[in-house]
Amino acid sequence: MEIVNYPHPALRWKSNDVSQIDDALRETVREMFELMYAHNGIGLAANQVALPFRIFVANLTGEASEPDEELVFINPQIIKRRGTEVGEEGCLSLPGLYADVKRSSSVVVEAFDLDGNLFRAELDELGARAVQHEIDHLDGILFIDRLDDIVRQEVAAKVAEFAAEYARRQSAGELPDDDELRTRLQQLVERSAVPSNP
Ligand code: ZN
Repeated sequence: MEIVNYPHPALRWKSNDVSQIDDALRETVREMFELMYAHNGIGLAANQVALPFRIFVANLTGEASEPDEELVFINPQIIKRRGTEVGEEGCLSLPGLYADVKRSSSVVVEAFDLDGNLFRAELDELGARAVQHEIDHLDGILFIDRLDDIVRQEVAAKVAEFAAEYARRQSAGELPDDDELRTRLQQLVERSAVPSNP
């Protein structure tokens, strides 16, 4: 498992609901946490590891030594929003790029946990921002899509650098082309639709 960078097509994938919460998923979640900590992140969505499923992990402390703060959101939905607030965001799929984004200042989220139980969380400040950023990932939306025009122009050169580096890796054969990457995502979706127990 590895984090994919912009503009990998997984980051533009509108992901499918998780249909089964099992040991394989729990293992995936463990790996996602480890990757997130290794890259000093506070949240990581399945799209960012090229898995087309609606799940993300978060730990607002960013510390592996604080496992009690770990949060897993499966098939999350924002059911209520309040206020707006501008704040700086970054993304492990666009490392080193930071910009101000306007978000709802507080949200109520419903999701399933790793035991398959539905839970509801009311979040504000960093928690609200992280959840909105991660749920966007599951819809194929990136924080650079939500910048106002002035900020967008300020970061345009840096975004273009990511695209150029990605194209370079593809033409060097270090990465498959986009059609192949999309085919792999589609195969993962189809495989998950097949029950693993007959
Ligand atoms: Zn992100």
